Amino acid sequence: MNGWQQIVGHDWAVELLSGAIRHGRVGHAYLVTGPAQVGKTTLARVFAQALNCTAPEPDSRPCGTCRSCQLVAKDRHPDVRLESGELSGRGKRTLKIDQIRELQRSLTLTAAEGRYKVAIVRDFESANANAANAFLKTLEEPPPRVVIVLTASEADALLPTIASRCQAITLRPLTYAIVERALQERWRVPADKARLLAHLAEGRLGWAVACAEKPQLLADRANRLDKLEQALPLSRVDRFGLAEQLTRTPEELPDLLRVWLGWWRDLLLLANGNGGAGAITNVDHEERLRTLAQEWPRDAILRCLKATEEELTHLERNANARLALEVLLLGYPRTSPVPAARPISAP
Ligand SMILES: [Zn+2]
Repeated sequence: MNGWQQIVGHDWAVELLSGAIRHGRVGHAYLVTGPAQVGKTTLARVFAQALNCTAPEPDSRPCGTCRSCQLVAKDRHPDVRLESGELSGRGKRTLKIDQIRELQRSLTLTAAEGRYKVAIVRDFESANANAANAFLKTLEEPPPRVVIVLTASEADALLPTIASRCQAITLRPLTYAIVERALQERWRVPADKARLLAHLAEGRLGWAVACAEKPQLLADRANRLDKLEQALPLSRVDRFGLAEQLTRTPEELPDLLRVWLGWWRDLLLLANGNGGAGAITNVDHEERLRTLAQEWPRDAILRCLKATEEELTHLERNANARLALEVLLLGYPRTSPVPAARPISAP
């Protein structure tokens, strides 16, 4: 199997990059954008392998088996650098100017083993303004035989001067069916689990594979949904208490709210009558979601969805997490206390 085939989907991106090598038209800089874990770094790594693979037949590059390909796969090739921002206390990554300077120094040296020096800089939106501006010089006058691959969630998240100097490659989420098939065929995930993961992944295969390999991730998601279900029957006073409890671990709030957001989106789809096959994400909660979608007014669902979305944005701007979470929880509709609410009119 040729190494490009390990990339699931994104056919045109593979064609573009492999074609560039085939026709001797490799660019100096690429910007690969797309949602988290959709396959940006995987694509960049396979490209780096193809650029430096030592297989004699160009058509079989990257071979995946030569020393060069193996070193790239382990992120240990002397001429291929993978750079990510450093994690700070609040779980946020930042690319600092020192890292960029060190990378620039290394790019001016001649390749030790490979044909190209490749720098893969992940999530370039995490570069602070100084770091981004410093890197601009390298993009304007790249050293010979250097290929830079930046990744980012979207081009708009970067300085226009950076984005405009890179060839853009936008990766879209994969279809549910592609993710499900890949999980079953390549990662040997049992059918039931593959179906659930493919729905939850929202087209991000990397996320689905990580979940298949680390059961804790799915357990975390189940806990986050439980927290929401716990909140719904609570009185106002008890919701204040829950907000207080949840803000004791502020680093977990963004992931918590992302799971809640997916749940509200599903509810809105169902309330709008758009919950056909493959539409909703939380398929393992479908019955419960259908019940609530009938019971709650559509406007209330829409309002909660928007409020949850705004709360996520607030958190990213370091707003007062507890206050914001209190407001959010108070705005959620209340279900009757146990047993769970039933629709007013039976379907
Ligand atoms: Zn190779």
